[in-house]
Amino acid sequence: MILDLREIDNFPAHLFLEGDPSKIAPDYDGLRGVSKVTAELDIQQSGEEYFCQGQVEATVRLGCSRCLKEFDTQVGNKTDFIVCCESLYADRSGKGLDDEDYVFFRGSDLRADLTDIVRQTIVLAVGMKPLCAEDCRGLCPTCGVNLNERSCSCNVEKIDPRWEGLKRLLKE
Ligand SMILES: [Zn+2]
Ligand SMILES: [Zn+2]
Repeated sequence: MILDLREIDNFPAHLFLEGDPSKIAPDYDGLRGVSKVTAELDIQQSGEEYFCQGQVEATVRLGCSRCLKEFDTQVGNKTDFIVCCESLYADRSGKGLDDEDYVFFRGSDLRADLTDIVRQTIVLAVGMKPLCAEDCRGLCPTCGVNLNERSCSCNVEKIDPRWEGLKRLLKE
Protein backbone atom coordinates (compact mmCIF):
# COMPACT_ATOMS: atom_id res chain seq x y z
CA MET A 1 0.00 0.00 0.00
CA ILE A 2 1.60 3.23 -1.18
CA LEU A 3 0.76 6.65 0.24
CA ASP A 4 1.51 9.20 -2.49
CA LEU A 5 1.52 12.70 -1.00
CA ARG A 6 2.10 14.33 -4.40
CA GLU A 7 -1.54 13.57 -5.13
CA ILE A 8 -2.75 15.70 -2.24
CA ASP A 9 -3.20 19.44 -2.77
CA ASN A 10 -4.68 20.54 0.51
CA PHE A 11 -4.16 19.52 4.13
CA PRO A 12 -5.74 18.26 6.28
CA ALA A 13 -6.70 15.55 3.83
CA HIS A 14 -8.95 12.54 4.08
CA LEU A 15 -7.85 9.55 2.07
CA PHE A 16 -9.14 6.07 1.27
CA LEU A 17 -6.52 3.54 0.17
CA GLU A 18 -6.90 -0.01 -1.02
CA GLY A 19 -3.92 -2.31 -0.71
CA ASP A 20 -2.74 -5.38 -2.53
CA PRO A 21 -3.59 -8.22 -0.11
CA SER A 22 -0.88 -10.49 -1.52
CA LYS A 23 1.77 -7.95 -0.44
CA ILE A 24 0.50 -8.10 3.15
CA ALA A 25 1.97 -11.58 3.36
CA PRO A 26 1.18 -12.91 6.81
CA ASP A 27 4.24 -13.49 8.95
CA TYR A 28 2.23 -14.62 11.92
CA ASP A 29 1.02 -18.06 12.83
CA GLY A 30 -2.69 -17.47 13.46
CA LEU A 31 -3.00 -15.38 10.29
CA ARG A 32 -3.24 -17.67 7.25
CA GLY A 33 -4.12 -15.15 4.57
CA VAL A 34 -5.44 -11.70 3.71
CA SER A 35 -7.98 -11.22 0.92
CA LYS A 36 -8.84 -7.52 1.18
CA VAL A 37 -7.19 -4.59 2.90
CA THR A 38 -8.16 -0.93 3.11
CA ALA A 39 -7.03 2.10 5.09
CA GLU A 40 -8.91 5.30 5.74
CA LEU A 41 -6.60 8.08 6.86
CA ASP A 42 -6.74 11.67 8.06
CA ILE A 43 -3.50 13.41 7.21
CA GLN A 44 -2.26 16.65 8.75
CA GLN A 45 0.83 18.42 7.53
CA SER A 46 3.24 20.09 9.94
CA GLY A 47 6.33 21.41 8.16
CA GLU A 48 7.86 18.41 6.47
CA GLU A 49 6.10 15.88 8.65
CA TYR A 50 2.76 14.29 7.89
CA PHE A 51 0.66 13.02 10.78
CA CYS A 52 -1.60 10.15 9.78
CA GLN A 53 -4.45 8.74 11.82
CA GLY A 54 -7.14 6.36 10.80
CA GLN A 55 -8.53 2.89 10.53
CA VAL A 56 -7.23 -0.24 8.80
CA GLU A 57 -9.78 -2.90 7.78
CA ALA A 58 -8.99 -6.33 6.41
CA THR A 59 -10.68 -9.58 5.43
CA VAL A 60 -8.46 -12.29 6.84
CA ARG A 61 -8.28 -16.05 7.00
CA LEU A 62 -7.48 -17.27 10.50
CA GLY A 63 -6.77 -20.61 12.11
CA CYS A 64 -8.86 -21.25 15.23
CA SER A 65 -6.55 -21.74 18.22
CA ARG A 66 -8.90 -24.38 19.73
CA CYS A 67 -10.24 -26.51 16.85
CA LEU A 68 -7.61 -25.53 14.21
CA LYS A 69 -10.29 -24.96 11.57
CA GLU A 70 -9.71 -22.10 9.12
CA PHE A 71 -12.31 -19.36 8.86
CA ASP A 72 -12.66 -15.96 7.18
CA THR A 73 -13.45 -12.88 9.19
CA GLN A 74 -13.26 -9.11 9.15
CA VAL A 75 -10.83 -7.31 11.46
CA GLY A 76 -10.17 -3.63 12.01
CA ASN A 77 -7.85 -1.54 14.08
CA LYS A 78 -6.83 2.07 14.57
CA THR A 79 -3.51 3.24 13.23
CA ASP A 80 -1.44 6.29 14.02
CA PHE A 81 1.94 7.16 12.47
CA ILE A 82 4.09 9.97 11.12
CA VAL A 83 5.52 10.13 7.62
CA CYS A 84 8.68 12.13 6.94
CA CYS A 85 12.05 11.79 5.23
CA GLU A 86 14.81 9.84 6.93
CA SER A 87 17.30 12.71 7.12
CA LEU A 88 14.83 15.00 8.89
CA TYR A 89 14.11 12.30 11.44
CA ALA A 90 17.79 11.51 11.99
CA ASP A 91 18.68 15.20 12.47
CA ARG A 92 15.98 15.74 15.00
CA SER A 93 16.07 12.58 17.07
CA GLY A 94 19.64 11.36 16.67
CA LYS A 95 18.13 7.88 16.92
CA GLY A 96 18.18 4.89 14.60
CA LEU A 97 15.53 4.47 11.95
CA ASP A 98 13.60 1.65 13.58
CA ASP A 99 11.03 3.85 15.31
CA GLU A 100 7.69 2.12 14.84
CA ASP A 101 5.73 5.38 14.97
CA TYR A 102 7.42 6.54 11.75
CA VAL A 103 7.20 5.63 8.10
CA PHE A 104 9.85 7.12 5.84
CA PHE A 105 9.68 8.39 2.29
CA ARG A 106 11.62 6.47 -0.28
CA GLY A 107 14.53 8.82 -0.93
CA SER A 108 13.37 12.30 -1.88
CA ASP A 109 10.11 11.02 -3.34
CA LEU A 110 6.94 11.99 -1.46
CA ARG A 111 5.81 8.38 -1.56
CA ALA A 112 5.69 6.13 1.49
CA ASP A 113 5.22 2.38 1.59
CA LEU A 114 2.63 1.60 4.27
CA THR A 115 2.82 -2.19 3.87
CA ASP A 116 4.70 -2.87 7.13
CA ILE A 117 2.62 -0.61 9.33
CA VAL A 118 -0.62 -1.97 7.83
CA ARG A 119 0.56 -5.54 8.43
CA GLN A 120 1.43 -4.75 12.08
CA THR A 121 -1.98 -3.14 12.56
CA ILE A 122 -3.73 -6.24 11.21
CA VAL A 123 -1.65 -8.61 13.35
CA LEU A 124 -2.57 -6.58 16.45
CA ALA A 125 -6.25 -6.71 15.47
CA VAL A 126 -6.14 -10.50 15.13
CA GLY A 127 -4.82 -11.00 18.65
CA MET A 128 -2.92 -13.95 20.09
CA LYS A 129 -5.60 -16.65 20.16
CA PRO A 130 -8.15 -16.36 17.36
CA LEU A 131 -11.36 -18.37 17.87
CA CYS A 132 -13.83 -19.48 15.17
CA ALA A 133 -16.59 -18.82 17.75
CA GLU A 134 -16.53 -17.63 21.35
CA ASP A 135 -17.92 -20.99 22.46
CA CYS A 136 -15.75 -23.16 20.19
CA ARG A 137 -15.54 -26.58 21.85
CA GLY A 138 -12.17 -27.43 20.35
CA LEU A 139 -10.76 -30.88 19.71
CA CYS A 140 -11.11 -33.95 21.91
CA PRO A 141 -7.72 -34.33 23.60
CA THR A 142 -7.98 -38.13 23.28
CA CYS A 143 -9.22 -38.89 19.75
CA GLY A 144 -8.80 -35.48 18.10
CA VAL A 145 -12.39 -35.19 16.84
CA ASN A 146 -13.68 -31.65 16.27
CA LEU A 147 -16.25 -31.40 19.07
CA ASN A 148 -18.14 -28.62 17.24
CA GLU A 149 -18.99 -31.09 14.47
CA ARG A 150 -19.66 -34.27 16.41
CA SER A 151 -19.25 -35.82 19.79
CA CYS A 152 -17.05 -38.76 20.55
CA SER A 153 -17.26 -41.63 22.97
CA CYS A 154 -14.09 -40.82 24.82
CA ASN A 155 -14.94 -40.35 28.44
CA VAL A 156 -12.53 -37.67 29.44
CA GLU A 157 -12.33 -37.92 33.17
CA LYS A 158 -10.27 -35.13 34.54
CA ILE A 159 -8.52 -36.69 37.48
CA ASP A 160 -6.42 -34.58 39.73
CA PRO A 161 -3.00 -36.29 39.76
CA ARG A 162 -2.95 -36.00 43.54
CA TRP A 163 -5.92 -38.39 43.71
CA GLU A 164 -4.30 -41.01 41.49
CA GLY A 165 -2.54 -42.67 44.43
CA LEU A 166 -5.72 -42.81 46.46
CA LYS A 167 -7.63 -44.35 43.56
CA ARG A 168 -5.02 -47.05 43.24
CA LEU A 169 -5.27 -47.81 46.96
CA LEU A 170 -9.07 -48.13 46.77
CA LYS A 171 -8.78 -50.60 43.91
CA GLU A 172 -6.48 -52.90 45.87
ZN1 LIG B 1 -12.76 -23.36 16.70
ZN1 LIG C 1 -12.69 -38.31 21.73
